[in-house]
Amino acid sequence: MPDPVYKRVLLKISGEALMGDGQFGIDLPTVERVACEVKSACDMGVEVCLVVGGGNIFRGLTVAAGGMERASADYMGMLATVMNALAVQSSLEKLGQHTRVMSAIEMTSVCEPYIRRRALRHLEKGRVVIFAGGTGNPFFTTDTGAALRAAEMGCDALMKGTQVDGVYSADPKLDPDAERYEQISYRDVLTQDLRVMDQAAISLTRENGIPIVVFSLKDGIQGALTGQGRFTVVGGDE
Ligand code: UDP
Repeated sequence: MPDPVYKRVLLKISGEALMGDGQFGIDLPTVERVACEVKSACDMGVEVCLVVGGGNIFRGLTVAAGGMERASADYMGMLATVMNALAVQSSLEKLGQHTRVMSAIEMTSVCEPYIRRRALRHLEKGRVVIFAGGTGNPFFTTDTGAALRAAEMGCDALMKGTQVDGVYSADPKLDPDAERYEQISYRDVLTQDLRVMDQAAISLTRENGIPIVVFSLKDGIQGALTGQGRFTVVGGDE
C-alpha cells in the first residue's frame, strides 16, 4: 500500500450515508462499514477528524418549510448530528479505535465540549475526533462545520465521502453523459453550481487553501488517501 498523501484529514459524511437502504435513521451495519473506513485511514497513520451530518434524522430547513421556526428546527438538526456522532463513536471503539466526540453545543454528560486546543491534542495522541453539533449555529450546515473544523485543525484535505466517485458535470444517476472531473477549481464548482458542498463551505476551504477530495464511500477511503483511486480534487483557482 503506497503512503498516504495527507497527514491529517477531515472526513465529512452526510447523515444519509448512515441510513443504509432505509429512508430514515441509523442503520448499524452501515455505520460499522463507515467506521471500518475510518479505522483503515488511522491504520495508515493518518490523523482523522470526522464530521457527521444529521439529515438522516432531522433537517432544519425541511421542517421549517412545514411551519416551524427555522432557528429551533436547526437546533434540532444539530442535536441529530450528536446522535449520529455517538453511533459512529461506538462502532469505532468496537474496532479498538480511540475516539472523542466534541460538540459545538455543550452537552457535558454526553460528550466533550468543543475546545480547539484540546481537539488538537486528541489528534496528536492518535484519537479520532468526531465533531458534533455542526458549527453550533442555526442557518448553517454540517458542510460548513466540516470546512470550519478542517481549517481550525490545520487539515491537509477535506475528504467528502459520497455515493458517487467524484464530481460530475450533472447527476450521473440521471444523465448518462455526465462528465466526471479528475480536478476542478473552487471557482468552477461555485460558478457551475456543482453542489459538491454548500457555498459557505467552498468559500472557507478556498480561502484556507484546503483541497476537497470527493470520493465514493463504497470504493473506500484508502485510494483517495494515497492518490491511487477514483476521486475528484477540488482546489486551486486556475
Ligand atoms: N445544522 C445547523 N447548523 C450547523 C449544522 C447543522 O443548524 O452548523 C442543522 C440544520 O438544520 C441541518 C441539520 O442540522 O439541516 C443537519 O445537518 P446537515 O443538513 O448539514 O446534515 P447532512 O446533510 O450532512 O446529513
